[in-house]
Amino acid sequence: MKITAIETYVCHARMRNWIFVKVVTDQPGLWGWGEATLEWHTKSVVGAIEDISQLLIGEDPRRIEHLWQMMYRQHFWHGNGIVRGTAISGIDIALWDILGKIHNVPCHELWGGRVRDHVRLYCHLGGGKMEDFYETAPGDAKRFGELALQAVEEGFTAFKSMAVPETMSLEGLQPIKYAEACVRAMREAVGDQIDIMVDCHARPSPRMGMMFAKALEPYGLYFFEEPCWPETMEDIALIQRAVTTPIASGERLVGVHAFRELLEKRAVSVIQPDITHCGGLTEARRIGALAEAYRVSMAPHNPQGPVSTAASLELGFSSPSYIICESVHSDVEWRSDVVSEGFTVQKQGRIVLPNQKPGLGIEINEEEVKKHPFQQEILQRTFYKDGSVGDW
Ligand SMILES: [Mg+2]
Repeated sequence: MKITAIETYVCHARMRNWIFVKVVTDQPGLWGWGEATLEWHTKSVVGAIEDISQLLIGEDPRRIEHLWQMMYRQHFWHGNGIVRGTAISGIDIALWDILGKIHNVPCHELWGGRVRDHVRLYCHLGGGKMEDFYETAPGDAKRFGELALQAVEEGFTAFKSMAVPETMSLEGLQPIKYAEACVRAMREAVGDQIDIMVDCHARPSPRMGMMFAKALEPYGLYFFEEPCWPETMEDIALIQRAVTTPIASGERLVGVHAFRELLEKRAVSVIQPDITHCGGLTEARRIGALAEAYRVSMAPHNPQGPVSTAASLELGFSSPSYIICESVHSDVEWRSDVVSEGFTVQKQGRIVLPNQKPGLGIEINEEEVKKHPFQQEILQRTFYKDGSVGDW
């Protein structure tokens, strides 16, 4: 059995261009789907996949670990940068899809079988609609409360918000009070039974991140995400020690080595590898095993397309430390037209029952994808009041 082609299909989905990866074999009808979406870097990733594919054409797709080692270590430059890491991830996910199809079982059956009956989903406020999640107007705590209620009415028991505004490296009380008002509005709207998460998008400096974490501690967040830059891991650890709120991070890290450092520093209670960036399912499983050793929870980053979601769920059904799956359901109206999925979602509680189909259980409709060709992503550029560059 041989790999004969590695193809990319770019599908413009407003905020992102989804990059679907199709690994084709010499067996009639046998191929696998992966995803390598990296917003604002679409052409780089497509090019990186083309570069890496030279290593894999003619190889046996069943030797996934061997091929992963080739992709990561050959061509001299290791695959631990975000572009190459994403390209490797997309191919690796497709290889697991192929292996599941060969053995006629879902991927989670390949990894020791089901460790849970269902996986809980959480949503973004507004369902992932770009304007609601990222552009809620400052001062509009009421809107946060309304969107929170809407998420619960849609059946979710957990949701994530961007209640921490963009701030310079040091600012006074105003942004802290704003964040607190937004979180208080959400908590008052949905009560104590619902889990609320706040993503800081690594906007704050370490000290601002600490101030936000302290101010929001009384609201019992399920987790508090990326309170400062991932490059300032020691400071994330300081925040983790200073509050009882579980701190989460990891969506921008590539490779098990980066997660080893995060865990060694006891910086987080929740690791968030992105399966489409960190090195695919092969590396995500290693990262998950490491998290087990530290008794740290895993909640993979997953705001992208449908192959990423299917991969996250297969990992979730086979990883004890996995706690919840990030989901986006209202980013584009035609999401369900481009993919058929093997898992089912119960609307009440938004819980997912396991996929019964082989591999990832999905099929991508290439004709539908062609209706949404590449478009340059909307630029997200942030400048502070004084004109200096900020973090979005
Ligand atoms: Mg995030």
